[in-house]
Amino acid sequence: MAEALFTDDLKIDPYWWEAAPPRRINDSVPEAADVVVIGGGYAGLSTALELARNGTDVVVLEAEDFGHGASSRNGGGVSGTNVGKGPSAGVTSPVEKALGPERMRQLLVGGTESMNNLENLIERENLDCHYVRCGRFVGAYTPAHFAGMASKVAHLNAAGDNGAALLPREEVRREIATDFYYGGMTVERSGSVHPAMLQMGLLARCQEQGVTLCAHTPMQAISREGDGFLVATATGIIKAREVVVGTNGYTGKGTPWLRRRLIPAASYIIATEERPEDEIKALIPNNRTMADSKRVLNYYRLAPGGRRVLFGGRARLAMGDPRDCANILYNQMLDVFPQLNGIRISHAWTGGIAFSFDYLPHMGRQNGVHYMAGCNGAGVAMMTYLGTQTALKILDKANRPCAFDELPFPSRPFYTGHPWFLPIVSSYYALRDRMDRSRAA
Ligand SMILES: Cc1cc2nc3c(=O)[nH]c(=O)nc-3n(C[C@H](O)[C@H](O)[C@H](O)COP(=O)(O)OP(=O)(O)OC[C@H]3O[C@@H](n4cnc5c(N)ncnc54)[C@H](O)[C@@H]3O)c2cc1C
Repeated sequence: MAEALFTDDLKIDPYWWEAAPPRRINDSVPEAADVVVIGGGYAGLSTALELARNGTDVVVLEAEDFGHGASSRNGGGVSGTNVGKGPSAGVTSPVEKALGPERMRQLLVGGTESMNNLENLIERENLDCHYVRCGRFVGAYTPAHFAGMASKVAHLNAAGDNGAALLPREEVRREIATDFYYGGMTVERSGSVHPAMLQMGLLARCQEQGVTLCAHTPMQAISREGDGFLVATATGIIKAREVVVGTNGYTGKGTPWLRRRLIPAASYIIATEERPEDEIKALIPNNRTMADSKRVLNYYRLAPGGRRVLFGGRARLAMGDPRDCANILYNQMLDVFPQLNGIRISHAWTGGIAFSFDYLPHMGRQNGVHYMAGCNGAGVAMMTYLGTQTALKILDKANRPCAFDELPFPSRPFYTGHPWFLPIVSSYYALRDRMDRSRAA
């Protein structure tokens, strides 16, 4: 294993924050509002924006600065087709098998809509966030994974105009300067975005629309009062007609029902130092977002401008010091791009995601409180979509129910939201990946 190299001024904050740092907007906590939204990421802000554009009086409570959560930390891969995938080898997960092709197709159609929704939102709101519909490449980690991709390609194309295609091993170099994969698939209907600029763009539009934005104001408790709710914070209690929870990987004890249904986990990213554009762009010549078919997957891309590589993965599923995981990611990056040997890491960071037990995203109501949760690591398009859909539901303006609305939302006996098993699970998955790969050699 190579020892990761770092620049002298290594930052353990997201690279994205250089262009769009978190913001502390401290409107005072009002006594009443039509809707209180908890969580200031894509889910919460897209809910608030849609409601405010339709004349609703909305408050967003954010426990930290706006931009603290996953929405300004992610890889910026935009895709609507990761529905139900889960951390499984190959591309047909047990969840997909259990749901069956028709149910999967319906959910994939919902996923496709999530991408339309994001593209429309970026255009309608004129959000400056480097969005490009660049397409995606998924590399097959083993020959068996490549064989499994044929049915995945068929499902994706049956679910909509996703432009999925298989790429045999001898053609992989059209997409990526490596011989690491046993083939792969491309999905044209995917994009990339500067995630923190997207988040800050949504925040700015919310502010323009008069949404009350309260940073450093965690919701402490929600209780019922008459037809509505009381939302308690350290600086006051808000009386609200509706409450929406969009806390995903940061869901706390104030919403125990939701917490029991989510497995909070971490994802990690490193950014390399800048190198000449021609050297970096040659690695991913079509500038797609990239991922692989491992259980402990890697995802990567070029930074906007094409002078650095951003390489991410669930190096550990548990939250930890991003510097420790940087070494794992650095070596995984060199497995794919040995030509980067010697490049230094300038940023290493982490953020919180949430798995659901069925690997599906969920929205719905529990005791009258709306929730949107369970991104399963892919929520740029999906959580924004669930936010918009939740707002339309509150406004009674949805044309038809969202595919993810009120799905059964499983938990497990005795599970309270503390994922003690994550280190064991991630070591097991990593071992299975290594075994599959060594068998393939
Ligand atoms: C490193 C990383 C890489 C990723 N890469 C991708 C990718 O390439 N593509 C993709 O589609 N997805 C990706 N994701 C997932 C994606 O970022 C998330 O699904 C999405 O941002 C979730 O948005 P959200 O609004 O639901 O939650 P978040 O953005 O996490 O926001 C939740 C907010 O709730 C706040 N909060 C929590 N409790 C309270 C409370 N009691 N009161 C008030 N506020 C509270 C938190 O402080 C937080 O700011 C990645 C995630 C990470 C961490």
